Amino acid sequence: MVEYLKTKGISNSFVLDAMSKVPRHAFLDSSFLEFAYTDQAFPIGSNQTISSLYTVAFQTQLLDVNPKEKILEIGTGSGYQTAILLEMGATVYSIERHRDLYRKAKKMLKSLNYRSSLFYGDGYLGLPEHAPFDKILVTCGAPALPPLLISQLNLGGCMVIPIGFKEQIMTHIRRDLDGNIAKKEYENFQFVPLLRNKE
Ligand code: SAH
Repeated sequence: MVEYLKTKGISNSFVLDAMSKVPRHAFLDSSFLEFAYTDQAFPIGSNQTISSLYTVAFQTQLLDVNPKEKILEIGTGSGYQTAILLEMGATVYSIERHRDLYRKAKKMLKSLNYRSSLFYGDGYLGLPEHAPFDKILVTCGAPALPPLLISQLNLGGCMVIPIGFKEQIMTHIRRDLDGNIAKKEYENFQFVPLLRNKE
């Protein structure tokens, strides 16, 4: 898996290390176990999917995670991406709008001894009571940049967010020390949509 990700351009050794340590099979339905380390998205219930390995690696590399950073993730889903960020030493707050997924992810992360703060709610609003964050990672496709998220980013912080409808352009947004926003766009991906309100 690590060799495959390297051929796809993932070179950050901390990302590759974390991905080789977190057991992806633990976050999948038993029917997909034999494919756990192949580069595909799989159903995780509630009509949602766990992102493909390359997507997780790409987003994590772009976020440039450092130990002790305070990171907000929108779209906990299976909890796999959350585990990758935790494995890299970050402090992670993650929001999910499906109660069942929120519960399942909480149970799984706990059973693997990962300590995170998971929330059931609408990530479009961010998590104002725990802001500001060093970094924000959105793991669902946002039709546009959610305005409240930027305001919860520390000066000097950054956000990685896929923006678009049918397909999404992976977008890196930096909030510089003066509060100015710089946007950089990367390749296209396909995510389940960011939807409003809780299920
Ligand atoms: N990071 C996840 C990816 C799951 S797919 C993983 O590693 O498995 C994206 C998730 O975003 C879905 O579970 C979906 O329910 C959730 N989502 C969509 N809109 C949301 C919102 N407004 N707030 C919180 N979660 C949301």
